Amino acid sequence: MEKKTEHYDVVIVGGGPGGMTAALYAGRARLKTLLIEKSLIGGMATYTSEVENYPGFPEPIDGTELMKSFDKQFRRFGVNVKLTDVREIRVDCCTRTVSTFRTDYVAKAVVIATGNKSRLTGAKNEDKFLNDKGISFCATCDAARNTGKRIMVIGSGDAAIEEGTFLTKFASEVIVSVMHDEGIMDANKVAQEKALANPKMKFMWNTVVESFEGEEELKQVVLKNIKTGELIPMDVDTCFLFIGYVPNTKMFEGLIDMTSRGYIKTNEDMETSCTGIFAVGDCRDKTLRQIATAVGDGAVAGYMAEKYVEEMDYVQKEIFEAKGLTMAFVYNAIDAVDREFLSRAEKAQELHKGKLGLRRIDIYKSDRIACRLDYSKTPSLIFMQDGKVIENVTDLSAIENKIAEMVAKHG
Ligand SMILES: Cc1cc2nc3c(=O)[nH]c(=O)nc-3n(C[C@H](O)[C@H](O)[C@H](O)COP(=O)(O)OP(=O)(O)OC[C@H]3O[C@@H](n4cnc5c(N)ncnc54)[C@H](O)[C@@H]3O)c2cc1C
Repeated sequence: MEKKTEHYDVVIVGGGPGGMTAALYAGRARLKTLLIEKSLIGGMATYTSEVENYPGFPEPIDGTELMKSFDKQFRRFGVNVKLTDVREIRVDCCTRTVSTFRTDYVAKAVVIATGNKSRLTGAKNEDKFLNDKGISFCATCDAARNTGKRIMVIGSGDAAIEEGTFLTKFASEVIVSVMHDEGIMDANKVAQEKALANPKMKFMWNTVVESFEGEEELKQVVLKNIKTGELIPMDVDTCFLFIGYVPNTKMFEGLIDMTSRGYIKTNEDMETSCTGIFAVGDCRDKTLRQIATAVGDGAVAGYMAEKYVEEMDYVQKEIFEAKGLTMAFVYNAIDAVDREFLSRAEKAQELHKGKLGLRRIDIYKSDRIACRLDYSKTPSLIFMQDGKVIENVTDLSAIENKIAEMVAKHG
């Protein structure tokens, strides 16, 4: 089957709070924008029933409700949405191709907002009970179906303790497996105090999961006491894993720079090591992974993508689609020698006005434009005929003669 091709200014991969905010900014800047989400619009924020720390909501708000508002807001600005899995991003000189099973989406700029996925325990039989067979990662999604049931939560961080407390509203008992000594948890103090005071919560200190047991559905979690080695079988209906996250960035290996843990490195403009590709939210290397910070990243990336697309459109129109003979003077404005050569180029061009155009490209401000011209050093003089490079001159000692020669030959 031949793949379809569609063209966009900006393609955003991932529909969590980071991706949706980038979509809001790009759409509002009237860029032709596409957001691709492989499962649920709203991302990880839909996994929680109580968001207490997103500004603007004095009372706790349900994560899914909050994400519905995000969704409604960005769609007002004409952003297209496709529900499909991105498999690859390919890069060539001036386009980035976001590839799905059926379609290649060719974009001027791409925003990666793929977030994290939940970490697995690695215990025996884990695979057998994933995908609705007894192991869950989302309290909000699976709370109601656990009404009156006995459930287990693995972990002691914010997500484990806060979501475990929420689950006590439904379950008859919530057993929390914590690998630390009695009383030690990684969650914030407020959450810890609430959980310890909750009569429906029972803590199994110094334990990790040894195995998951059952036929078609999970029936039992076997815990192991890491101090004594004792195996403790516990009958439960569902086991919720909240033991951390790993970034959804495997497919970008080799394309962009990442940390050893797979988080994407960016600068403060959310630019990655690959020009025209931005990264935001939880998949990015940063200190705090929250809705508020994902939103901040998304706003910056949406804004920067707009600037980038504007710049690319300018280059396309003014340089690559320019008719006749043009010279692009690539220089560094903070270098005095480069400025001197620019002045000589300007004077020489004056003599041939009408026959020769001049585009000044300052790498200090517009390195990306200069890159598209494939310059090797500054100053360089790149002659173009009808948008095609015909000569790249780096020895500018006789710049006036060179310009006169090119006009005589091609002007
Ligand atoms: C249980 C829990 C409770 C939380 N509570 C809070 C809280 O109270 N307050 C708070 O501020 N934060 C909270 N967080 C954290 C918050 O949800 C995240 O920081 C935030 O969602 C990150 O947003 P994001 O857009 O970077 O990524 P995500 O929300 O993870 O979204 C990424 C999206 O990308 C999609 N995706 C991934 N790969 C692909 C692909 N190949 N193709 C297409 N789409 C893809 C995913 O399906 C996902 O929808 C909580 C998280 C969890 C798990």
